[in-house]
Amino acid sequence: MIQFQYERAVTAKAAISGLANNANAKFIAGGTNLIDLMKRNVMAPTKLVDINAVPLKDIQQQGGKTSIGALALNSAVADHKLILEKLPLLAQALNAGASAQIRNMATVGGNMMQRTRCSYFYDTALPCNKREPGSGCGALEGLNRMHAIFGTSEQCIAVHPSDMCVALVALDASVVVAGPKGERRIPFEEFHRLPGNQPEKDNTLQNNEMIISVEIPDNAFSKNAHYFKVRDRASYAFALVSVAAALHMDGKVIKEARLAMGGVAHKPWRLKEAEQALAGKPATEETFRQAAEIAMRGAKAFKYNAFKLKLGPNVIVEALKNAAGLV
Ligand code: SF4
Repeated sequence: MIQFQYERAVTAKAAISGLANNANAKFIAGGTNLIDLMKRNVMAPTKLVDINAVPLKDIQQQGGKTSIGALALNSAVADHKLILEKLPLLAQALNAGASAQIRNMATVGGNMMQRTRCSYFYDTALPCNKREPGSGCGALEGLNRMHAIFGTSEQCIAVHPSDMCVALVALDASVVVAGPKGERRIPFEEFHRLPGNQPEKDNTLQNNEMIISVEIPDNAFSKNAHYFKVRDRASYAFALVSVAAALHMDGKVIKEARLAMGGVAHKPWRLKEAEQALAGKPATEETFRQAAEIAMRGAKAFKYNAFKLKLGPNVIVEALKNAAGLV
């Protein structure tokens, strides 16, 4: 059994102080991933700071943006009137993730901090550079059907498992974080990182920082947005490939587009070149196929995930067709 210290914080300041001088302390909120990791000896924090009582659950719109507290539950965000009206892409992505029971426990901040579901990461008898730096990557030559096709390194080819984060990166969100020196904002695209030669690091959060909220700027994408997820089961399964697509339409012409993929990289994968290719074009299947081709440039498959090279562009096209109202 893992021994750990437990502390409850009721303010963000107290929570941040709770991590001071202990690089192996972790925050716990819903615990839907961390508890599993502790039970399986994948993670062994020496201290847990329970942040459930910190008042960070508000969802509000002001100053040209929607702000969502880090401790808002995934289900509360997905069902919130403001989110359904202004950010339906986010609601769809949240509802595509996990199960209803998990969405009722999991928080926005926890969703961002969840670890990869690479099976080698969870099996402590097998090599994994993310769990144990320098031990090797079992997935490189092993069972890599679920793994990445973009941004991989020789150290790690894992994918980030979140659906919510794919919508947030497409919608130009920012992450507000607080630490001992105050608050800072991180563009969502820079929050998660590629594995490089430090796959043990999932994101750019410092050890003593806490996620306070996520901010999404007001946009013109609420009418034409769609989250399309392909998975092995109809629910409670991680994406093989998912796509968040949002269009700002002027009649039948695309004024502006937002596009991101999930299940393909160590971070939610924004497709800016494909977005630029869509701007100013008619919303047709041909346009979407061209954008999908651009989006897939640079993709590289491994032994068991080559199907993602064909599935990826098809999911992009279907997501865009749904967003444009063509199906
Ligand atoms: Fe570990 Fe990453 Fe390799 Fe999976 S892909 S075994 S998480 S190093």
